[in-house]
Amino acid sequence: MSSTALSPLDALTIHLQETALLSTSNNLLDWDQETTMPSGGLEWRARQQALIARIVHERASSIERGDLIASVEADRAAMADAATMALVREARRDYEKATKLPSSLVEEMAKTSSMAKHEWAEARAASDFKRFAPWLERLVGLLRAQADCYGFSSGGERWDALADLYEPGCTAAYVAGVFDPLRPRLQKLIADLGSARVQPSNAFNDYFVSIEKQEKLSRMVAESIGFDFNRGRLDRSTHPFCGGTHCNDVRMTTRYSERCVNDALGSTMHESGHGIYEQGLPFSRIGTPLGEAISLGIHESQSRMWENQVGRSRSFWNWLTPRMGELIGGDVSRFSQEDLYSAANVVEPGFIRVEADEATYNLHVMVRFEIERAVIGGSLEVAGIPAEWNRLYKELLGLEVPDDRRGCLQDIHWSMGAMGYFPTYTLGNLYASQFFEAACEQLPGLVDGFTRGEFNGLREWLRANIHAHGRRFAPAELVQQVTGKPLSAEPLMRHLEGKLRPLYGI
Ligand code: ZN
Repeated sequence: MSSTALSPLDALTIHLQETALLSTSNNLLDWDQETTMPSGGLEWRARQQALIARIVHERASSIERGDLIASVEADRAAMADAATMALVREARRDYEKATKLPSSLVEEMAKTSSMAKHEWAEARAASDFKRFAPWLERLVGLLRAQADCYGFSSGGERWDALADLYEPGCTAAYVAGVFDPLRPRLQKLIADLGSARVQPSNAFNDYFVSIEKQEKLSRMVAESIGFDFNRGRLDRSTHPFCGGTHCNDVRMTTRYSERCVNDALGSTMHESGHGIYEQGLPFSRIGTPLGEAISLGIHESQSRMWENQVGRSRSFWNWLTPRMGELIGGDVSRFSQEDLYSAANVVEPGFIRVEADEATYNLHVMVRFEIERAVIGGSLEVAGIPAEWNRLYKELLGLEVPDDRRGCLQDIHWSMGAMGYFPTYTLGNLYASQFFEAACEQLPGLVDGFTRGEFNGLREWLRANIHAHGRRFAPAELVQQVTGKPLSAEPLMRHLEGKLRPLYGI
């Protein structure tokens, strides 16, 4: 090799990074569409994004990409480095995924889901599942075909192949193994809280605060917990999200409602958790798998930790209460620190997943997991979904679902052809609890520090133990490495029981 020739690793890195330059341009178009684009721009924007997506897919599945990966794999000196080996392993994984689906199936899925999303919105507005059912049937057919193209291990099931797209290595058996022992314990806790004599005050959740003041409060909190505004933004959108192009340009959004400060605060802390993860990815690796988040579940663990373990803790409210007085003013001081802490932690079964509290949330996810698994596995017909949904809500949450709008039509995911996605939310809660316990063991006084506004210790711990690795480890491997144990339901239950039972006086 002459001194000017690129090494195989450099050549692969350039190919990956140039693809990322294109694909992250699409992220920016997404952000623009959700925050500032006039609705007239929709059609052209869809064409812009479709073209970029096609070019990105062509590059990601090209023979050139395959050859570049193979040449690094054959370079024994380069592969002796553990980081390079991980980079190539993940590049190979992405390449196999990109090349396994025939482009006719990719196109059919894109067309069907964009129509189905529209039909779902109409069906939801009319609260009429029958209207959406034929579209969902088509999507399920395509998802099964997709799963067969990807393949799954013998003894596994089709659903595994879909879940693996969002959470590498995740299988239905693994999820069931974690969810099954969790379900009765959550149900017992929720029942005990519901019948407790002490019911925490919910009054603050109906307190009026102007959107301007909520925005100031949200920015102050995001900055205090460690979101870097020199490398990121906070804007508004109907559905909060975190996007952007790379670690030095992270775009997150939140939403405000005048009658619920906790909604804005919760979603700002949640998205800040995602944003802090993105900002913590190593810049030198951006565009390669070592500069990307591991999985949806691990991403969600970061958002949930800041939202729940930090943002719903007593120490956090000790810190925030006097600042609420300064930033919001008015008569907010009539609420005690205890009132504010209580309002952030009220538990009440409801129909809607995205409005659920920390304890009931996971039961919503379990309903969806059971239904997806049965539908993809073939033991449940699409037409039978509403009845099965309502039966499970009765069994798990004790609720009679009044209509499809508040039942099986509430989420957008299935209409987008996303099955195997929901469990990553609960996996995120489980990872968050287990990581946070490990952080507390390794950083004595961590939680007390929140009272003084000291959040940097946690952020730096997450950066070193999780963010800096990119996709170097698989999710289950990372959990074992950071916490010394495989994933279990125990830390989440300890977190919920330890906080909620005292709050409800039991
Ligand atoms: Zn999230």
